Amino acid sequence: MHNNEIKVFIGIGSNMADPQQQVIDVLPHLDQIRESQLVSHSSLYQSAAVSDIPQEDYINAVACLTTKLQPMELLLELQSIEYAFYRQRSDELKWAPRTMDLDIILFGNIQQNDSHLCIPHAEMQNRLFVLQPLQEVSGDLYIPGLGSISYLIKQAPALRIKRLD
Ligand code: ATP
Ligand code: CA
Ligand code: CA
Repeated sequence: MHNNEIKVFIGIGSNMADPQQQVIDVLPHLDQIRESQLVSHSSLYQSAAVSDIPQEDYINAVACLTTKLQPMELLLELQSIEYAFYRQRSDELKWAPRTMDLDIILFGNIQQNDSHLCIPHAEMQNRLFVLQPLQEVSGDLYIPGLGSISYLIKQAPALRIKRLD
């Protein structure tokens, strides 16, 4: 890793249209982001959707990239991949089913909170479907402002989550 490259962790989620395959298929797209490389990724994890709307289980994973992009540049690249996977955004339906959701979980040790970007991801400490794959791919990192991943996993709300082989 060159010294102008930063290590980032991306949360991947899908619960529509063969979600396991969608999560697998998005990995090469992450590797093709300009000035970035895919370093590694976690196993796939299955969990029930957190929503009032009945919907399929989610499949989640976390990918590790190195990048020379700025956080906002990376977010725009991720959003264009989401659209390539035919994600429909709906203002009325927050947490509606979606084919592909790509969130920046960590961006080096950056802490940022503005109207477009909150890093570390604002909900990560409440989401075992982020914390478990993150721990698998990163080991026991210290999350800026939050604590170690193992501590966060102990504190996180219970959730039925299954690691797929
Ligand atoms: P959640 O943020 O609770 O996981 P979501 O992923 O369903 O919800 P989206 O509709 O995908 O939410 O994104 C809404 C907005 O969140 C995006 O347009 C983006 O500007 C903003 N956002 C803030 N922080 C981040 C981040 N760390 N990664 C991705 N998007 C972020
Ligand atoms: Ca999300
Ligand atoms: Ca998102």
